[in-house]
Amino acid sequence: MHKTLTDTHGRMVSYMRISVTDRCNLRCKYCAGEALDFIPHPRILRYEEIMDLIGLGHSMGVDKIRFTGGEPFVRKGFADFMVAAAGRFPNMEMCVTTNATLIRDWVEPLSNAGIHRINISLDTLSPEKYEAITGRDMFSTVMENILRCVDAGMTVKVNAVAMHGTNDDELPGFLDFAASNALDFRLIEFMPVGSEPGWSDQAVWKASEILEQAQSLVDLTPSEDNGIRVKGPARMYDIRDGKGRFGIISPYTDHFCGTCNRLRITSDGKLRTCLFSDKTFRLRPALRHPALGLKFVERIIRRAGRKKPIGHELLERMPSGQSVCSTRMASIGG
Ligand code: SAM
Repeated sequence: MHKTLTDTHGRMVSYMRISVTDRCNLRCKYCAGEALDFIPHPRILRYEEIMDLIGLGHSMGVDKIRFTGGEPFVRKGFADFMVAAAGRFPNMEMCVTTNATLIRDWVEPLSNAGIHRINISLDTLSPEKYEAITGRDMFSTVMENILRCVDAGMTVKVNAVAMHGTNDDELPGFLDFAASNALDFRLIEFMPVGSEPGWSDQAVWKASEILEQAQSLVDLTPSEDNGIRVKGPARMYDIRDGKGRFGIISPYTDHFCGTCNRLRITSDGKLRTCLFSDKTFRLRPALRHPALGLKFVERIIRRAGRKKPIGHELLERMPSGQSVCSTRMASIGG
């Protein structure tokens, strides 16, 4: 094992989020809209290159990989690649974030390969609203696939972006959904990333409001493993007599930069050390350069990782109403 990667704020980088594609089969209004310029295929990292980066991360102390996108399952061969990665690095935790529209046939193979953690995005429990948000009539497919994952014994986290005027009327349904199913349902504050259409401070359904409203509806107790922000950014709550849990993630009103342990790699091989910063470090040219290769990539990652910024300082410096970076979530890898 090489030296681990610790930044100048004392944060150890142990979590790598890798976007395997910037393409998505949904057109969520707040994330992508209809007009997307996709990255041409030759610029997208090949699976062998991603595998090399995972190996490099492993040697630097990264113990958790999350695959994301765009939608990871739209990329040909993604599930097989994930199974292969899990086999190659059995002591790394491998997880995936997906819209769950395409996972039906992969639940069993992924679960058999030891991939037990899946994050599924679902912003509404109304089929009509789902179509209005995503532009696709796929609510029932997603719901079936969520339940398939739960039945397969996976640890399922269903994430909804909390938006005033979009889903703030659905809290009773969300709580009921979490109480009735063995999963975590989490509301995530709408973030001003990438000039999101429709983002404004007023559109953010804030964590404090959500918690107050939820507590007036059901009996919530902070979950024991909360260890606030030790295991992750979510504040989780047990629901009395519920099978699942309810959680809130507040990147906007109550940041968790102090414990951020993440690096992000975009599908075209750019390293981002903070979601809220446009600063990127290009890994692909070094990866593809016959004389430079992984040793050089490691140097770039170490240099970038050491200077990982405190994102909320960036957020606070922004004039109100503006996004903090110019790249959309679908391109960065949410
Ligand atoms: N396609 C996959 C999915 O749907 O989960 C992975 C990529 S998607 C960009 C990852 C997550 O980012 C989704 O849950 C999406 O709702 C969320 N997201 C996109 N824009 C966001 C924003 N401005 N604020 C908060 N979450 C956002």
